[in-house]
Amino acid sequence: MIARTNTIWQVSAWQNELAGAIRDPEVLLSRLNLCHHQLADRYQACKQFPLRVTESYLSRMRPGDPNDPLLLQILPQGEELDQVNGYSIDPVGDNASIKLPGLLHKYSGRCLLITTAACAVHCRYCFRRHFPYQASRLDEESLTQAMAYIAGDGSLSEVILSGGDPLSLSDERLEQIISKLDTIPHLKRLRIHTRQPVVLPSRITDRLLETLNHSRLQQIVVLHFNHANEFDHQVESAIEKLSRSGITLFNQSVLLKGVNDSVSSLKALSEKLFGHRIIPYYLHLLDKTSGAAHFDIPLKQARQLHRELKAELPGYLVPTLVQELAGEPNKTVIT
Ligand SMILES: *Cc1c(COP(=O)(O)O)cnc(C)c1O
Ligand code: SF4
Repeated sequence: MIARTNTIWQVSAWQNELAGAIRDPEVLLSRLNLCHHQLADRYQACKQFPLRVTESYLSRMRPGDPNDPLLLQILPQGEELDQVNGYSIDPVGDNASIKLPGLLHKYSGRCLLITTAACAVHCRYCFRRHFPYQASRLDEESLTQAMAYIAGDGSLSEVILSGGDPLSLSDERLEQIISKLDTIPHLKRLRIHTRQPVVLPSRITDRLLETLNHSRLQQIVVLHFNHANEFDHQVESAIEKLSRSGITLFNQSVLLKGVNDSVSSLKALSEKLFGHRIIPYYLHLLDKTSGAAHFDIPLKQARQLHRELKAELPGYLVPTLVQELAGEPNKTVIT
């Protein structure tokens, strides 16, 4: 009985925190004791992609620091409205890989389900800001169709739950999706791509862990940390729970100007990740999505940073530098 009560309380805790996310740039800046300059531009940028940040993520930002690496990831900027050559609304050609509403089959052996459009925070660099979610949402009918597609393609061994953030879904909905996948015999692995443990660690409830453990599929969670400052006590305990339940943990980051574009920052992140049994997997070059050009690191500089990182760390702590190019059979490795 106590466990049950506990579960209910935990579920409402993360859902309450989601509902109470900060959405107003003025409120955000006030909370960090920052001046309100360029507010009109920030509100304008919000019209394209609203501000959204959790109390948990906010609590890890340094008050009074306009260049805080966490703040820069979520603060709407006037520059987002600039039209920049080479930047588009579908930079990675995903729209061409939408086989059915909510199902992307781009690479061999694995397909991706867009389970929800919702995220706990809105990362300003993310191409999801332009994704046609309305046309490709996984409602009941499209879920049935997607399951039939997966069941009908014996070459698929892995399904990736993505979004948005798949952990924005309720435990009941996740259970429903995963139990359907469990019945498809040729599937071996379930992969979840999520930023929720980083930005909303209260989401890692016992009920969620039970749901994942209940599946016959081998479980992989790909996290999305961009900076060592994103770890705090609560995040560490959420990661600990995931890793203790036998889930393999990887991390992918995006190389972002002003956030993590130094060897010392990338090194600290890798060390921190591995200290919590997370394997650094990918370091992505920015997708050239309109509104994100101010985060771009030139290719030459990215290569140089990666080379220096390799010189400073054991090979297993160096993430693979990749770029997603439209029409390629896999993510392109930058050498
Ligand atoms: C990144 C991605 C994957 C997974 O690629 P891995 O190299 O296996 O991590 C699968 N499908 C899509 C559409 C992707 O963008
Ligand atoms: S999909 Fe991931 S990176 Fe993009 S806005 Fe959502 S949480 Fe951020």
